[in-house]
Amino acid sequence: MAYRKDDDYDYLFKVVLIGDSGVGKSNLLSRFTRNEFSLDSKATIGVEFATRSIQVNEKVVKAQIWDTAGQERYRAITSAYYRGAVGALVVYDITRNVTFDNIERWLKELREHTDSSIVIMLVGNKADVRHLRAVNTEDATNFAEKENIFFTETSALESTNVEQAFIEVLNQIYQVVSKKALEAASHSTSLPKGQTISMSSNDVSAIKGGGCCSS
Ligand code: GDP
Ligand code: MG
Repeated sequence: MAYRKDDDYDYLFKVVLIGDSGVGKSNLLSRFTRNEFSLDSKATIGVEFATRSIQVNEKVVKAQIWDTAGQERYRAITSAYYRGAVGALVVYDITRNVTFDNIERWLKELREHTDSSIVIMLVGNKADVRHLRAVNTEDATNFAEKENIFFTETSALESTNVEQAFIEVLNQIYQVVSKKALEAASHSTSLPKGQTISMSSNDVSAIKGGGCCSS
């Protein structure tokens, strides 16, 4: 394979993790980006994200995945958290019904703050805790269908479906972006090649310019 610099990528996609406290968002992120899992929840301060690059159709897609730092407990996630997001994993805990009931509110907040083309996946985490299951897979499937979003069940602990969930979201975002690029190209012949995509790294440098985040 040709030599690539560590930070050489074709697309940078911002993806946000939302859902109630304790559902496993931080562990899904650490599983996907570092292949790590932690039994105790350590409180973190400030908004943070982690990145991982994957290959999609010969392009390098860098996922910048944002995790809350516990603000979800106070329902005080700022609009900066959502700004520019092109994908979201909306997570509940299959052993706690209330976390599933709250998904509707999370979706509402997400949609209020993001573009309608955002790719959303509903994620039922802790699927390994089989004896304490409280949310049916079927109910979640039906709900996701009604909301027109993707759905999967995961276990960050056992590393089941975590990789697949993130990669599916990134693949779908890629589809949306390439379709947008095609449409833009067909609507305007004056735009130079490569200038048609609204989710370029430039957009994200603007976000980084906000100065709120570590990398
Ligand atoms: P967050 O508040 O949504 O970020 O949740 P955390 O990632 O901090 O996880 C909350 C608790 O659930 C921690 O004790 C984790 O070890 C545990 N946890 C997270 N994911 C799983 C999972 O897939 N299975 C099990 N059994 N526990 C999990
Ligand atoms: Mg967390």
